[in-house]
Amino acid sequence: MTGFNLRSLTLTTLIAVSGVEATKSKLNPPPQCPYRFAWENVQLSSRDISPFDAFLFGFNTSSKPSLKCKAFPGESSWPSAQTWAKFNKTLGGALIKTVPLAAACYPEWGEYYNPEECQRVRESWTNPRLHVEDPGSGMFPLYQGRSCLPDGGNCTLGGYASYSVAAANVKQIQLAVNFARNANLRLVVKNTGHDFNAKSVGAGALSVWTHKLNDIQFVEDYKCAHSGYRGPAFKLGSGVLTEQVYAAAEKYGVSVVGGECRTVGIAGGFIAGGGHSPLSSLLGMGADQVLSMEVVLPDGRFVTVNERSYPDLFWALRGAGGSTYGIVTSVTVRAYPRIPVSTLTFAYGTSPNVTADTFWESIRVYMKYFDRFATTGAYGYFFVFNIGPDQFLFIMTPFWANNMNSAQLISLVQPYLNDLANLGIEITPNITSYPSVFQAYQGAFPGPETVGTVDNHSGSRLFPKENFQDPRKLNDTLAAVRHAISNGGILVGYNIRSAPNAIANQNNAVNPAWRKARAFFILGATWPANATLAQIQQASKTLTTDWLAKWRAVSPGSGTYMSEADINEPNWQREFYGEYYPRLYSLKKKYDPNGVFYAPTAVGSEDWYVTGQKEWVPSQDGKLCRK
Ligand SMILES: Cc1cc2nc3c(=O)[nH]c(=O)nc-3n(C[C@H](O)[C@H](O)[C@H](O)COP(=O)(O)OP(=O)(O)OC[C@H]3O[C@@H](n4cnc5c(N)ncnc54)[C@H](O)[C@@H]3O)c2cc1C
Repeated sequence: MTGFNLRSLTLTTLIAVSGVEATKSKLNPPPQCPYRFAWENVQLSSRDISPFDAFLFGFNTSSKPSLKCKAFPGESSWPSAQTWAKFNKTLGGALIKTVPLAAACYPEWGEYYNPEECQRVRESWTNPRLHVEDPGSGMFPLYQGRSCLPDGGNCTLGGYASYSVAAANVKQIQLAVNFARNANLRLVVKNTGHDFNAKSVGAGALSVWTHKLNDIQFVEDYKCAHSGYRGPAFKLGSGVLTEQVYAAAEKYGVSVVGGECRTVGIAGGFIAGGGHSPLSSLLGMGADQVLSMEVVLPDGRFVTVNERSYPDLFWALRGAGGSTYGIVTSVTVRAYPRIPVSTLTFAYGTSPNVTADTFWESIRVYMKYFDRFATTGAYGYFFVFNIGPDQFLFIMTPFWANNMNSAQLISLVQPYLNDLANLGIEITPNITSYPSVFQAYQGAFPGPETVGTVDNHSGSRLFPKENFQDPRKLNDTLAAVRHAISNGGILVGYNIRSAPNAIANQNNAVNPAWRKARAFFILGATWPANATLAQIQQASKTLTTDWLAKWRAVSPGSGTYMSEADINEPNWQREFYGEYYPRLYSLKKKYDPNGVFYAPTAVGSEDWYVTGQKEWVPSQDGKLCRK
């Protein structure tokens, strides 16, 4: 098998393979370091703030550590209507007062009630794009308190922020951070709202909506000295979506490490949390690709963050999660040569000829190949469903082979397919070859994925290589997975590794469990649409304390991916951040000592609580208070 040899990639080969020379004359001259978008040069200066308004919008102030709770609507500490109006004026009119997406379905929302609009919202409620385009809506309304769904119930703000700043420049973000800090407001950062654990929403909050910061600039030959990297790169505004980066990479003849979901914000929560990709088994994590970042800090200052400038923050901002140390306005990432990709899809299930035991034997067979497949640079994305008592369905969708043509893909997977055949499982493989990542992405991940539902809760686990190599551990792993699925769980599986990559910078805060993993499994628990709170609580508790507990037990010392994790994960500091947690916590105290930024399960969030919680179904619809 011809692998993709990173070490052979020199600047010359990068440019030759990517065809960058051909487009050179059409490109702008390279900008100066640090690279900044025009809107990043629109910054807040002390001159912009009159002495009279400095206590609201100025720098050099601290938040109010003496106050137990953040200001909340209706309370005396909440800013007056005049103050909000003044804030809006300083922003140039970028302030949006929240109206929940589904308010159109509720007559009590008066002027916003609109049956036609309600119908549109209802029909597209499970489509991520609806929530991406809204300043306040997250994709997991369970954790917003199910406060305003298009079908039934009441419509209140619940876990929605009270106001959002539709940020179009750095100055507006600085104003929002300063105002939140000075007025003791809860501050939220919302990009797309994909976060599994409602980290981009919050009751009574001022939200910074980064969606409009969606510029993409191709840098033909990045040569800022701090990284030692020379080669192609992309500078991405923090609102850029994965699909937009892939399309830009196609245009310039390169490849970029992005996620599998089209609308995930690559330069927002994706990179902040680590970022796994169909290219990770070849090139490492999304966070490993970062060359430099532009950031508004909790004190309102705007800084460049890289190996030389705020190196401790540079380490933390790549892997330790969003909404913790500041608001990233843009990220510059490495680009790689365009590569071909081949994909394989197939499905099979239990049948009169395939018993449940045989089905699970087939999963063992696949697991035995996990290390080999991932080490070759391949990525497997698959589902296992329970479709009845002792009846199961496996869907490979797809097996993704980086830098391989179809013959190479077949030769890689043939032993696995032979093993399936030996179990009596005949599959019809559907193989497609593509000339580039973008084209493979278009073919293999047509989307959209389903979000916005309130009948499920998920958790996850990273499984290290030895779980699939040591026969005893493999047995235990298989039994733990079978237990969960046999009891009604849904498995979304990734056969993946974080490949070592000498070109990238892998000295960052990505959960160390990623570096040893050969699989990342997401596990979903479901309940009927009309379930009572008690049923939801029971299902969530079972997920955490039974199904995932067994997964933890068979992979001690590993962890999971904070961005797609169980919000009830016990010992989340260890599981989401590994041994880095103490260092990350001390950086939180250094840069944000008074908690301007908070998000559930983010570093330092254990110092806070949200009022009015229901056991096993935490939500962001209460008041945020210090412990
Ligand atoms: C359907 C679906 C598919 C997914 N597929 C993948 C995948 O293939 N690979 C993968 O790794 N993950 C995947 N995820 C998880 C996803 O990467 C994370 O949820 C990620 O945090 C989303 O980031 P976002 O900016 O798009 O979303 P948001 O929910 O808006 O933000 C997520 C977090 O980052 C913070 N944040 C966002 N922007 C900034 C910023 N500019 N500065 C500071 N903080 C910020 C938010 O406050 C929040 O805490 C998927 C999630 C879903 C729902």
